[in-house]
This record gives sequence, structure tokens and C-alpha cells, in this order.
Amino acid sequence: MTNIINELFGKNVFNDEKMKDRLPEDVYLKLKKTIAEGNELDSSIADVVAAAMKDWAVENGATHYTHWFQPMTGITAEKHDSFINSKDNKAILEFSGKELIKGEPDASSFPSGGIRSTFEARGYTSWDCTSPAFLKETKAGVTLCIPTVFCSYTGEALDKKTPLLRSTEALEKQVLRIVKLFGHKDVKKINCSVGPEQEYFIVSRQNFLAREDLKFTGRTLFGAMPPKGQELEDHYFGSIKENIACFMKEVNEELWKLGVLAKTQHNEAAPAQHELAPIYSEVNIAVDHNQLTMETLKRVARNHGLECLLHEKPFMGVNGSGKHNNWSIITDTGINLLKPGKVPHENLQFLLFLSAVIKAVDENAVLLRVAASNPGNDHRLGAHEAPPAIISIFLGDQLTDIVEQIVESGTATYSKQGGKMQIGVKSLPEIKKDATDRNRTSPFAFTGNKFEFRMVASSISISCANIMLNTIVADVLSDIADELEKADDFQKALSNLIARILKEHKRIIFNGNGYSDEWIKEAERRGLPNVKTFVESIPALTDEKTVKIMQKHHVMSKVELESRAEVQYELYSKTINIEARTMIEMAKRQYIPAVINFNKALADSIISMKNALKDIDVTFIIDKLSKSQNLLNEANNALIKLEENTLNAAKYTGKEQALFFKDNVTPYMEALRKPIDQLEEIVEKKYWPVPTYGDLLFEVGE
Ligand code: ADP
Ligand code: MG
Repeated sequence: MTNIINELFGKNVFNDEKMKDRLPEDVYLKLKKTIAEGNELDSSIADVVAAAMKDWAVENGATHYTHWFQPMTGITAEKHDSFINSKDNKAILEFSGKELIKGEPDASSFPSGGIRSTFEARGYTSWDCTSPAFLKETKAGVTLCIPTVFCSYTGEALDKKTPLLRSTEALEKQVLRIVKLFGHKDVKKINCSVGPEQEYFIVSRQNFLAREDLKFTGRTLFGAMPPKGQELEDHYFGSIKENIACFMKEVNEELWKLGVLAKTQHNEAAPAQHELAPIYSEVNIAVDHNQLTMETLKRVARNHGLECLLHEKPFMGVNGSGKHNNWSIITDTGINLLKPGKVPHENLQFLLFLSAVIKAVDENAVLLRVAASNPGNDHRLGAHEAPPAIISIFLGDQLTDIVEQIVESGTATYSKQGGKMQIGVKSLPEIKKDATDRNRTSPFAFTGNKFEFRMVASSISISCANIMLNTIVADVLSDIADELEKADDFQKALSNLIARILKEHKRIIFNGNGYSDEWIKEAERRGLPNVKTFVESIPALTDEKTVKIMQKHHVMSKVELESRAEVQYELYSKTINIEARTMIEMAKRQYIPAVINFNKALADSIISMKNALKDIDVTFIIDKLSKSQNLLNEANNALIKLEENTLNAAKYTGKEQALFFKDNVTPYMEALRKPIDQLEEIVEKKYWPVPTYGDLLFEVGE
């Protein structure tokens, strides 16, 4: 296996090794310095770099190149140009430094949240050389992809990458101030490290294509629970079916070629649900790689007659999918600032960073909630398998105990240790226990040397979550640095500050069961916000506090934040509109006709049975018919209201429209689904027009 990894890893990436190989030494050194310092590429070397990149790409079969960017749609965008040029009436292959550095796609159809009107179509893409160029290989050919930022003519960010790069710079600036105070004068850079665990479902492509809801919306809008769900917990970590394993093998190989450190794969809790986790990397790369991972999962699944569903809640009644965003800060000298060490109570540097995260999360909980969300996540948050919509932090026994000591007496004097665990079998050795157990119900959990933000929606870019996380932590660190830099007695000021922060923000710490109803009451008592829906969390993007923080650290301007809020409202309205229209279409053209046919068959059989035998008792068939007909009427009434309100939504725009969809359309979607799902349990299978949950979840392969 190692051989395959060695052979494949980074094969399709224009990485350091290839740059060194192919560039003149002085150009290579200049480029490396630019990348290390995150500066703009010197135009004097751009032509040479571009030519080397093109030669490498062409040797590997590429005919086209594209600037690869991440507009606010949440997916990636490409506009392909071939390397072809004409010289003396002959076609030659060319790629200039100018083409490498800057592109100008006509970008009027990307969401801009009002920043740019369609007639001002200019958008610019510009190479982010901290993220390496790579080759995208598909059956259709090979394309050189150049990761770029995307901004408007007036310089506003129109993508998810620009603010992310700005947020890491902001975080770095403040972290460097703090570590200097602790005597780490040698630290020059930080690495904001992120490892996103990706959950997804796999269904057969044939079943997928037979369901309009899956095709148009990525989730089932109808469907009754089959006799078996996930109650036996026999799927979680179960052995992986062979065809799924073949699919995973190809996914891994494709990802390794792209330099993605695909590491862990297993079955998840729900039937047909799986997870893929890479080894963590620098956040900018992690975001790119997660986008590539999602794309690769979808593409490769099709090669195997399968379809990958990235939606947060493809099926009602079984677990949904999320993305666990593991996040920490590591210095260029190798110190993980979130690593507690063996005796955390003595590690004041760690305790300071821990306190900073606690304060940042407590003060900006709704902002984090919105950054992790999309319309799909509404079906997941608060259901009994995902963290609730309330943000709280899990610290575990050891750290909670230290926090309590500090809150009570100003300092902590000991750290609880994990100890040993007896398994009760003489031949087995004792197992060393971690000082802290895991908690699967917390939206924001400390997991040893990192925080794991578990609320993030499975299908979205992880960029927003990290932009917000980086910036709110940078902001708290900047206040801390202001205070500590002025202190006469650093040690004393430090201890006081940690104690003060923990006292003020300990309400956000919760180690119990986040799924319980008691927690909802307790959180309310503590004054923690519980914003239940995505739409209601959007205002957090533009509230005064967010604007102040984002502007102070030059991550996003007020206009940029407002545009993002606008894009989110639009996204919500469009999503619900598509879902409602899909339901209307399926109900009208598939379910209702099917039930009519079934009812007619029942009526026919009643008549023919009566004709055959006058005294025959057909009560139960009559009951069935009347039940079916009642449900059909109920569905039809809901359908009429749903159609009416979906049309009415067009009278509104922006936030008003989103709220209209939430309050006046989604209730009728539920009202329509309910009778149809009940009908599914009555109507004879041969009449049912689409594959059922049983087919979708349990017919995925051997
Ligand atoms: P689990 O969540 O199942 O316990 P792990 O803790 O091994 O799994 O890791 C989950 C993810 O966290 C992986 O992607 C891993 O690379 C990442 N990770 C581990 N350490 C760090 C770190 N210091 N910073 C960011 N991510 C990390
Ligand atoms: Mg995890």
C-alpha cells in the first residue's frame, strides 16, 4: 500500500518538488519566498513560472487551464481556456505570466449580494500562490487548475477565499503578539491547522435518478421509515461492503493524486452513511482540499453506479450529515498552542489561549451558528443526532476541573489525571486512560489538542466557519495583548486575566448531554442564545458587533458582510422554492395519480368481489379505501395551500421573502408530506411510483 501512496501522492500537484525540478534556481527561490511570506507574485518571474507549469501540465495530458475559484455559491467555479495560441499561422501552446496571475471572468451571474449589478460584470480572479496549482483529471480530459481569489472591480471580495486569507493574517498578527510575551521571540509565522471530517450518504444511481427530490434538491422530500432504520446500530463502524470499498479506494487514490491527505474512512451511524477524514493541514489548503473532496466523492460515485449525497439531511428519521471542523493554532516552531501538556494547570500559555477561545465563542455564538449553517442544516441541528442550535463548549473533566479551581480561587493547583483502566481480563494489559472522555453531543468540543466545531453543515464550504473562528479569536487576543503588553508584572496580570475571562464566560462550558431537553432549559437560564433556524441567525452577520470586529481586523467590510447576508437570504428562498416546487410536481404527477389508481383498484375489487359472492365481507377493504381516500384529500388540501403560498412568495424579496418561505411555505411542505408518507404504508408496492427509503438505504450494494 505504501508503494501506491508513494507513487500517487501529489502526482497531480505542482508542488515544491516539481517547482524545484522545473524552475531555474533563482526563480524557484523567489517563488518559495513569495509563498512563505504570502506576498504577491513578482511579475518578473511570473512568465517563467507559468511556462514551467504549462509544460508540466501539457506533459500530463492537459489542454486547458482554468482559474479555480470559490464564489459565494459555496461550490467552486471554473472557466476553461485552452493553451492554444496562433503564431505565424500555426497553433502553439502558450501560457503567460499574466494569464497565470490574473483572470477576468464575466462574473455577472455569480451571487454578489447586491455588490455588483449585472451590467457591471467585471470580476477579477488572482492567483493565491499559497495554494498550489493542480491537474484535474476526468474522463473528459486534464485541466490545469490555478487556485485564485475572486473580487469585484471595486475590490470587494466576491468569494470565500479572500476573507479566509485575511482572517488567517489577522489571527497570525495577534498570536505573534501573545507568544512574544511568553518569550517565543523566534516564532515568525503560525499555521492555523484544520482537519475537516466529511460525512456523506451513498445510494444507487438508479434509485437516485428515479427520485426527483434527490435529483433536484439533494434530499428526500417524502418517504416513510422502513421497518428497519439505524436502531440496531449495526452500520456504525461495521464492515464496509465491497462495492463501497471499491468506491472508497478510487476516491482515496484520486485524492492522493491531488495531494489530499485522505486518511480515515468508516461507516457512519445511519444505513448508507459514511465518513472520510483527511490529516489536518493549513486552513487555506484544508478548505481547497475539502472542496476537492466533495467534488471527488460525487464524481467517483458515478463511476461505480452510485450517487453521493452531501446534503445535511437526505432522509428524515435517520442521522444527518455534518462536517467536523477540527481547528488549532500551531507555530512555525512546532508548538501547538492548544496542547495542554501533561500538567495543564501549570501551562498558562495554553490556559490563556483556551480562555481566549472560550470568550470568543461565548461572545459570538450566533455568528458561529450562522457560519456553520445553510438551509439544510435546519433539519439536522437539534434533531436527536446533531448538536443543538445552542452553542456550548465541551471541555471534559480535566480542563473543567481546572477552570473551576481558577474561577473559585484565582489559580489552579492540580490537574486530574486519566489513570489506568482495568479491563478485567488477566491476559490483557491495563490501558492508559485519557484524562477526558469524548462527548458526541457538543457543538464545540475540546478534543485533546484542538477544538472540534461539529455544527458545520456537510455540504457547505468550511471557509465561513474558519473565517469567523479565526477573526473572533484574533479579536479577543488583540484585547488580551493590549492589556498584557502594558502590564508591569506580566505573571500576575496573566493569572488575573485568565481568572477574569473564565469567570465571565464559564456559562458557555457544558459537558453534559446536549441532546436533552434539560439542557435547552438550562441554556436558557444561562442566557445562551438558541436561534432555531438558519434564517433567524442571518442577522448576526451584520450586527454592530460583527461589523466592528470584522472591520477592525480587515477581514470584511460592512458592505461585504451585508452582501453575504443578502446572499444567504437568497439562498434560503431559492432552496425552499425549489423544494416546494419539487414537492408540488411529485405530488401532482406521481403520488396523487398513483393513489387514485390504487383506490380505483380497491373500489373495482370491492365491486367484483361482491358480484362474485353477495354475502362476502369486504369491510376491511372498504376501510382501507376510505382511509386512503381521506389521506388523499388531506394531501390535496395541503397541495393547494402549498402551491398558493409558493406563488405568493414572489411578491417579496430579500429577508422578507426568506421569512415568508419559512413561515408560510415550509409548514405546508410538512403538511403535504405527512399524508403522503402515511399513504406509502397503505398503498400496494406495485403502485408506488418511486423507490422507498428501504430501497434507497438498503439497496446500495453487497
Ligand atoms: P476523532 O475526531 O474521530 O477523534 P481524530 O481526533 O484522530 O479523530 O482527528 C479528527 C481530525 O482532526 C483529523 O482530520 C485530524 O487530522 C484532525 N486533527 C488532529 N490534530 C489536529 C490539530 N492539531 N489541528 C487541527 N486538526 C487536527
Ligand atoms: Mg471527530
